Amino acid sequence: MSSLLEVKNLKVHFPVKPGLFSRVHEFVKAVDDVSFSIEPGETLGLVGESGCGKTTLGRAIVRLVEPTSGSVLLNGEDITRMSGSELRARRRKFQMIFQDPYGSLNPRMTVEQIVGEALDIHQLTDSKSARQKRIAELLNAVGLDTVYAQRYPHEFSGGQRQRIGIARALAVEPELIICDEPVSALDVSVQAQIINLLQDLQQQRGIAYLFIAHDLAVIEHISRRVMVMYLGKIVETAEAKALIRTPQHPYTQALISAIPEVDPETKRKRIILPGDVPSPIHPPSGCPFHPRCPIAEARCKTDVPPLREISSSHRAACHLAKQY
Ligand code: SF4
Repeated sequence: MSSLLEVKNLKVHFPVKPGLFSRVHEFVKAVDDVSFSIEPGETLGLVGESGCGKTTLGRAIVRLVEPTSGSVLLNGEDITRMSGSELRARRRKFQMIFQDPYGSLNPRMTVEQIVGEALDIHQLTDSKSARQKRIAELLNAVGLDTVYAQRYPHEFSGGQRQRIGIARALAVEPELIICDEPVSALDVSVQAQIINLLQDLQQQRGIAYLFIAHDLAVIEHISRRVMVMYLGKIVETAEAKALIRTPQHPYTQALISAIPEVDPETKRKRIILPGDVPSPIHPPSGCPFHPRCPIAEARCKTDVPPLREISSSHRAACHLAKQY
């Protein structure tokens, strides 16, 4: 099976200008040499603390921010080299849903206009009645009654607004949706409803997701595979169950230790990491995690650990990760 999405050595470095007319001397390395792939119909989770570069990575894939270098192949075509009408035509294939659905929905447009706009841009219906029928289908698919079609975003709850955002994304029949923290702003009960909805839609339509979140418990629930990101780099990637059971990178171990246990008998020992995430303008030498790592050795300050295979489906960027 060929990959739906293949990201190769992707970098997004933002120039830092000390003043309006100053020259650029430094760069924020928001995404630094990231490679991965997503198969058709699968969910790949991407987890990390805020500021680690995961949102920038999602945005670079859909070209909402311009990659500095590297490639993003969708069905084998490099979308980083496309522009204009070529890129617009491919945009149908990949959509994005956001953490703040209210901020991403035009407050002056009704639900019908918001969902219909996507159909109009890509000329997906050929008559007014076909357009209305399709909008009704899309609202039903995300669990919204069609009586809401003439209402405005402010008349809905957070969960309902996220459903509108999902309906808008579905309108163009995408093969991939980048879900950027889609449930982080919602109550826990509503989070479960939206995650169940995304899973149902995936089963019905075969859509692949890149699911971005800072909460590993949510990621574990929805993803088949998970990538852990730290300071712009992928530091560990594995099947979701293997990652939770046998995490190899100390950063992943700390993230997992923060997941609340259902069974109090098997209480995990919480690992509190010292300090904050360092600046991505001046990342630490060697292993970028070494200033916060509880098991760092002398070589960690000088030698960059490569993301290496420790089992057939598990890779970690740590000198001390053990093969199994
Ligand atoms: Fe810690 Fe060293 Fe592994 Fe980095 S390479 S995670 S500093 S042990």
